[in-house]
Amino acid sequence: MVNLCLFILGACLGSLFGVLIERLPKNEPVLMARSRCRACNGQIPFYENIPIVSYLLLKGRCRSCKAKIPAWVWLIEVVTPAILLALYHLHGPNPLFVHVAVLSMLLIPIGLIDLTNWIIPDALTYPGMVLGLFLGPWLGVVPLKAALLGGIVGAGSFLLIRLVYGWVRGHEGMGLGDVKLMGMVGVFLGPFALGNIVLLSALLGLLFGLTGIIKEGKGLKAAVPFGFCIALGTIAFLGALPLGRMPWQA
Ligand SMILES: [Zn+2]
Repeated sequence: MVNLCLFILGACLGSLFGVLIERLPKNEPVLMARSRCRACNGQIPFYENIPIVSYLLLKGRCRSCKAKIPAWVWLIEVVTPAILLALYHLHGPNPLFVHVAVLSMLLIPIGLIDLTNWIIPDALTYPGMVLGLFLGPWLGVVPLKAALLGGIVGAGSFLLIRLVYGWVRGHEGMGLGDVKLMGMVGVFLGPFALGNIVLLSALLGLLFGLTGIIKEGKGLKAAVPFGFCIALGTIAFLGALPLGRMPWQA
């Protein structure tokens, strides 16, 4: 029963993330606007807007104009509940699961918007920071001190890297969005988790960079969507949490 509820919740959230990814970077209204076809702008009735199912029933095309619906829309509706269920089975029904699930559900749209649009929206990171600051202590998962310190260490260390990099190379290597995102992750997980997360993210970033060099011949200047790497690295870290001690314990 819990599995089914989490699956449905995840699919609906995944569907919402699809909307966020397309509308947030363009500053379009997200929640109040009706769903519309990307191609013909026709309104999509609610019964053709059921997560996962509708895409399959419509065979991935708009009913009126037959334009293809991008496959990633469906993929997010499947991957989001999969991540939610995986975290539930790793952590069990407890406050820790709620905490890491909320963080993951922030990281999925943030990471994917960075991957597709090269921006990390403040509209998600700022509320995320505030939410993390309240949620951790309220659930009794992360002490307030650890949350505050995590935010300062996360954002501070990335701000320092950004300043040093800009000073050495003469141009900005990292956006302020990455700084805020790392602050948000720090608020949720405390300072001790950040080392592992930065390591995982850097490895993913390296992988991205190498792919860029090999596939597109861009050389070392190939840009890497680092926010996506932080999001993916953090979700991977949350999956590995049961293997070790809680990150807010030294
Ligand atoms: Zn259409």
